[in-house]
Formats: sequence, C-alpha cells, structure tokens
Amino acid sequence: MGDKITAAQIYRAMESLCDSMELNKEYLSDLDGAIGDGDHGVNMAKCFRELKKRLPESQGRDIGTLLKNIGLVVLNSVGGAMGALYGTFFLRLAQECGGKEEIDLDGWVRMFKAGEKGIRDIGKANVGDKTMLDTLAAAVQALEQSAGQGESLGEALKHFEEGARKGMESTKDMIARIGRASRLGERTIGHQDAGATSCYFILKAFAQAGS
Ligand code: ADP
Ligand code: MG
Repeated sequence: MGDKITAAQIYRAMESLCDSMELNKEYLSDLDGAIGDGDHGVNMAKCFRELKKRLPESQGRDIGTLLKNIGLVVLNSVGGAMGALYGTFFLRLAQECGGKEEIDLDGWVRMFKAGEKGIRDIGKANVGDKTMLDTLAAAVQALEQSAGQGESLGEALKHFEEGARKGMESTKDMIARIGRASRLGERTIGHQDAGATSCYFILKAFAQAGS
C-alpha cells in the first residue's frame, strides 16, 4: 500500500460497509434488544440499503463530495438521533477533505478528529457513557498515537481498527449513562453497546480502504 488512500478506495470501502450492515442487522438488533428497544440493526440496515442505491451517484467524485453525499443520505434515511449522529459524522469527515482525490495519514487524522468532534457536539456524550463515542474516541486516540510515532499509513490504519475494536469491547463493562439504555443503569453491565458495535463496522470499513 502507498502512503495515500484514493477516492476510489474509499468508494469501494463504503460499498462493502453497506453489505456488512445488512449482514449484521440481526446481531445489532439483538445487542440493542438486551438493553434498549431492539431496533438498532433495523435502523442501520435501512439506512445502508438506501445508501447502496444512492452510492453510484458519487462514483468517480472526489473524497469530500463522496463523504458529503453519504452524510446527506444518512441524515435523511435514519430516523431520530442515529441519523443526526452518523449523518453529522460523515459530513464533518467531508469538510476536512473537500475536492481531494487522495488523502495521507495527516489528512486521515484531521478527518477523524473532526468526525469525533461532530459526534460529541451532537450527542453530548462523554467517553465511558457506553455509546458509539467509546469506539470512535479509542480509534482516534490510537490513530493519533500512530501518526505521532511516525508509523506508515498501513500500520496506522491497523492500529486505528484495533483501537476501535478495543473501544467497542470496553463498553461491555460500562454502565449506560446516556440514551435509552441509561434507564436500566447497572443492569447494562455485561452487554456490549449496539451503537459502539455499528461504529466499529463503520471504522473497520474505513481502515480496510487501505488494504
Ligand atoms: P434508539 O436509542 O432511538 O432506539 P438506536 O437503537 O438506533 O436508537 O441507537 C442506540 C445507540 O445510540 C446506542 O447503542 C448508543 O451507542 C447510541 N447513542 C445513544 N445516545 C447517544 C448520544 N447522546 N451520543 C452518542 N451516541 C448515542
Ligand atoms: Mg434502539
């Protein structure tokens, strides 16, 4: 792999993300069912099915346009908080790479820091509240550390994915402090958060854009 990721690679990664959300629909709804209302997989699959239909409109476009178009579909096709959270995430990524055909590690760090800030701005959750932010913040932290140590883009993306997975797994031991699951308090311990899991699938797809 080179030291840059192209718009075509990100496009292909987003196509496979649509398939992985569909494949994991029941898994995500089962996770949500344990401590929420059991609709997370349905919400995500509906959104990414719509995205699969709309993606070809963005084929061959620059990274900023591709991610902006994805953000708009997500914003408009998932009801409630999830559309706003993930929609804003993609739109903030897009803002960091307007007009770019390829992106290097520094650009990748800027993108995902902006995406994390977007989720924080909209959701007002903190790390440790047992949400998607736990996955995203851990991934961004690992990425920044990799970039700081001068790792190659390929190594940094591997650590980005590992950080996301650890962040997702860390939600298992947490008490939900925000959103629907927070009503169950300590009974949420032992269950991995559904949103943290869908966020892992999204970040894993981005990490695989480089492979
Ligand atoms: P709902 O809670 O309306 O049923 P979903 O089931 O689709 O929506 O999504 C639930 C997920 O949303 C949770 O697992 C959690 O990760 C995430 N979440 C809830 N509230 C917030 C928030 N304020 N900030 C970030 N993520 C949140
Ligand atoms: Mg739900």
